[in-house]
Amino acid sequence: MSTNFQVKSDPELWEKLGMDVARFSGMPAMLTQAYTNIFLSQKNRPAGMAYFDGMVENIHTGRIHEILAVKESGKPVIGTFCVYVPEELIVAAGGVCVGLCGGAQGSIADAEKILPRNICPMVKSAFGFKIGKICPYFQTVDLVYGETTCDAKKKTWELLDRYIPTHVMEIPQMKRERDKKLWLDEVKDFKVAVDKIAGIETSFEAIAGAIKTINGKRAALQRLNTLRHHNPSPISGKDMLLIEQIAFYDEPVRFSQHVNELCDELETRIADGIGVAPASTPRIMVSGTPMALPNWKLHNIIETSGAVVVNEESCIGTRYYKDLIYDGSTTVEEQLERLTERYMKIDCSCFTPNDDRIVQVVKEYEESGAQGIIDYCLQFCHTYNIEAVKLREACQQRGIPFMAIESDYSPDDVGQLQTRVEAFIEQIKG
Ligand code: SF4
Ligand code: SF4
Repeated sequence: MSTNFQVKSDPELWEKLGMDVARFSGMPAMLTQAYTNIFLSQKNRPAGMAYFDGMVENIHTGRIHEILAVKESGKPVIGTFCVYVPEELIVAAGGVCVGLCGGAQGSIADAEKILPRNICPMVKSAFGFKIGKICPYFQTVDLVYGETTCDAKKKTWELLDRYIPTHVMEIPQMKRERDKKLWLDEVKDFKVAVDKIAGIETSFEAIAGAIKTINGKRAALQRLNTLRHHNPSPISGKDMLLIEQIAFYDEPVRFSQHVNELCDELETRIADGIGVAPASTPRIMVSGTPMALPNWKLHNIIETSGAVVVNEESCIGTRYYKDLIYDGSTTVEEQLERLTERYMKIDCSCFTPNDDRIVQVVKEYEESGAQGIIDYCLQFCHTYNIEAVKLREACQQRGIPFMAIESDYSPDDVGQLQTRVEAFIEQIKG
């Protein structure tokens, strides 16, 4: 185990960002301890994880300095909460796109001073980070781009706008031709808004370059996910989830390069028969709502109960990288249409009907070599919760072991979840 891992502090930087420094100063030590316990205690980790450990060490310092440098050069720095917001157009303008979804319990109480308690913890956590001034990313972005995916989010944006300029894109809830047209118009408006901050009109070449960059990131993650499907798994589910989370705040070209280097290492591991756990280890696929940093709760429970997670069907998972954008367009208009086409393939449960997702979950189950599915739903997320009914039916029809769980970020239900997960693993073992 690495002993000198330490999440770094920079109170001067945090002061400059207008953070609550006194409160935040305890965070690096807490994260150091949690990360050491959850990640560095794992056996047989690939050496290539060192880069991602470094990203965590620099999460509140080094990466923030890099993003500030982009901002100070007049380029847009935009916070988002959904994989529907097209990051290619931010990258094309020379800017930075940062995922701001909240995955921590520590900011929930701040949010509950204003928001109702009985809404999704992801929305509360993110909102709490802003009003508590305890997230350097929230303090760095020029503005945030919300969307109209679910009710909790779209109504929260109206309140968030009081603390930071919050633009909202209308995401259609169906996928008919007229809905696709609406979405294309929204994408065009988004481009105009981003270009306005950058003070330029992004060119065909810049968009083509950004499509190539983000396609490269998604392709690297596809490659990594395909490799981890091997049995024995060459990388743990926890490490894979961490990389999928870092994808939302790292510089995309550098990130892709390190993911590809890790893939090279995993190919060698596979050739040498090296895994993170024996080939007989029960293999579980997780589906459902996204797990934003630092939500490692379910993966940690599963992997400390004697199983390995082999796939995340989630927006912090395959839903983010399963589709690429066609890169042979010849006009800006066509680029935006092709981009829209790719984004309309995202099978979020906010859509109706959303049967493509059921097909996708079964497909990923088969490709990953999993032996059972745990469907994870954040508390009060009605769309994923209800869609679990159809997923359960599809799994029953195919004889796929299936368990649905609903949870939040608090540690209160860990014991109960552990018991249920252990029983599910016993069921898989047969
Ligand atoms: S689950 Fe839906 S709303 Fe949430 S990030 Fe994914 S696409 Fe967006
Ligand atoms: S998990 Fe569900 S309720 Fe929470 S933000 Fe995403 S779609 Fe909305």
